[in-house]
Amino acid sequence: MTNEVVISRRGAERIRAGHVWVYRSDVAQAEGAAPGSVVTVGEDRGRARPPHALGTAFYSSASEIALRMISRGPVSDVFQLVRERIRAAVAYRGIFVREANAYRVIFSEGDFLPGLIVDRYNDILSMQVLTQAMDSTEMRAAVIHELGLGTDLRAIVERVDARVRKLERLEDRDSGIVWQTGHATGSVATGVSPVEVVGDTAGSGRPAPQNKLNTEFQMNGVRFLFDALSGQKTGAFLDQRENYAAAAHYACGEALDVFCYQGGFALHLARTCDKVTGVDSSRPALEAAEKNAVLNGRELEWIEANAFDLLRDYSDAGKKYDCIVLDPPAFAKSKRDLATAVRGYKELNLRALKMLRPGGILVTCSCSYHVSPETFLETVHAAALDSHRNLRILENRGAAKDHPSVLGIPETAYLKCLVLSVS
Ligand code: SAH
Repeated sequence: MTNEVVISRRGAERIRAGHVWVYRSDVAQAEGAAPGSVVTVGEDRGRARPPHALGTAFYSSASEIALRMISRGPVSDVFQLVRERIRAAVAYRGIFVREANAYRVIFSEGDFLPGLIVDRYNDILSMQVLTQAMDSTEMRAAVIHELGLGTDLRAIVERVDARVRKLERLEDRDSGIVWQTGHATGSVATGVSPVEVVGDTAGSGRPAPQNKLNTEFQMNGVRFLFDALSGQKTGAFLDQRENYAAAAHYACGEALDVFCYQGGFALHLARTCDKVTGVDSSRPALEAAEKNAVLNGRELEWIEANAFDLLRDYSDAGKKYDCIVLDPPAFAKSKRDLATAVRGYKELNLRALKMLRPGGILVTCSCSYHVSPETFLETVHAAALDSHRNLRILENRGAAKDHPSVLGIPETAYLKCLVLSVS
């Protein structure tokens, strides 16, 4: 028997408007609902009348988001439903992913699979589990089994976000391989030659820990190395894949990629620009970027610096560029940070605009959901007014289509990427 969770009218309105989240403050009654269980959701209509059925959801006993709807009706077999949705997500990518063997295969709510993220890097899948429901032993087994049916796969790794697991009150786990060719979860790696097994727990009876798993992937013909088990949180910013191509389409001359990470924009720009400089504060990211440059037979300049300091110094010194990319980390992690975030975006864009030659290209991004597309446009406009530049929008872009944004769930449309002509 599925437990019922009763929610307030406000919560129900949100669901009727197409969203899939119910906040804890809108839960009226959740007695008996086990952490991570599948529950039916009903709208409170007072004592005299029974709750009005709204559908089926995953319940979390810990998250502020208490319910994530998975269906507007009853669900008889949740594992079957999840398997079908995984297949649908894979098929959806088939419509539009071109010129790349790295892309997001499953984007949580964007693929109606709340709490599950899966990225493909050539022959490796990298998955993240974010909710109690997706973390149950049975659900993991169903998900991994279905993913493992994919073609040309070598391994599935799980990348653990310790902070998220703590917030969801899930037990600690290590990142690692959860499936590999011909082997079920947790089996000892034997005879799988492409997977380099490092570490020796011989005699312990446990599988040897594997801490090296590398592959190479490509996007738009640019090659990248992927270290599936390294300490870095993400392999690549796959959501920028289509924006890389757009930036390279317009850029020429001398280019500066600020917040370059492992060189996503910079390496694309190197195809159309004479000279490209990448800036990041992370040395490991720049080391990976240089390896990627070598892989592509390119020479780029990498500078380890705080972007704010470097942009101030360079613009004060009168340095000029034909193209500047700004792709900072999310400045607004919550609504409270909005004012500070806007100041940060304005400062970066102002400095960049001062350095762009007439006819130059500014590619400016924000991945903060809390900074709306309108606010971002206004902020960039304010920077243009202060720097006495005119901006024309060549492209007003978002995340690549493999990060689907769903109407009614604004959180799925978080990335802004403007390509601007500066005069
Ligand atoms: N453009 C990249 C993604 C950028 S992610 C791509 O397409 O792959 C944000 C990057 O900003 C990270 O690599 C992080 O190391 C870097 N970063 C964060 N704060 C910084 C700062 N103050 N100065 C320079 N780099 C910074």
